Amino acid sequence: MRIFIGIDLDLELKNQIFQLQEKLKPYVSKGNWKYEDNFHLTLRFLGEIEEGQISVIDGAIQSMIDKIKPFKLQLKGGGTFGLKSSTDESKGPLVKVLWLGVDGNMKALNELYFELEFALTEKGFAKDYRDYAPHITLGQDLRFSADIEAVKPYFKALEKSFMARELTLFRSESVGGRRVYRPIRTYAFSPTTLE
Ligand code: NAP
Repeated sequence: MRIFIGIDLDLELKNQIFQLQEKLKPYVSKGNWKYEDNFHLTLRFLGEIEEGQISVIDGAIQSMIDKIKPFKLQLKGGGTFGLKSSTDESKGPLVKVLWLGVDGNMKALNELYFELEFALTEKGFAKDYRDYAPHITLGQDLRFSADIEAVKPYFKALEKSFMARELTLFRSESVGGRRVYRPIRTYAFSPTTLE
């Protein structure tokens, strides 16, 4: 099974992100837009694992979750990973990942990332050596028909704050050709608020 750990977003914020995504769609001729119910902030992608490892991951999260208090985050700007300009002048760039940026209490978010990473490596999972680049994916493998700068003003219009109150262990699967993220378990942060 394909597994990742992240912060899920509430339905209202998911809908606001979807409304933004709708405004971007006319600038893109093809690609994969993330479905509205799938918007989230990934903390750790674990990839394909054996079902028996779920209890080990569950134990790792339980060993650190009480250290984390709810904290405030904010959507902030947006950008791309893997931007390739086209040699064909009639086409715009190809973008591997188009994302919304995340700001706010980055100290708390980074502590959460490192506590989770430490707990997983203690249980024998390979360390993730890449820098953590928090983002909310809007779409993948997008062929733009215009310069990417044209869409950047739209990101600014959605600089909303939201509270991170729990972690979710997700299973990612393809159901009838549609990518679905199913929560396996949620883990509430300790209830005292840290702004
Ligand atoms: P996935 O590959 O199972 O990824 C699940 C989550 O883990 C995503 O949040 C993803 O990153 C993260 N992740 C995946 N590989 C990673 C890696 N190597 N390192 C770090 N994080 C990683 O599912 P998916 O990416 O949503 O979709 C798989 C395929 O379905 C893609 O080809 C996609 O274009 C297509 N598709 C997906 C959707 C959708 O709504 N999810 C819609 C249409 C088509 P991010 O946090 O960066 O997203």
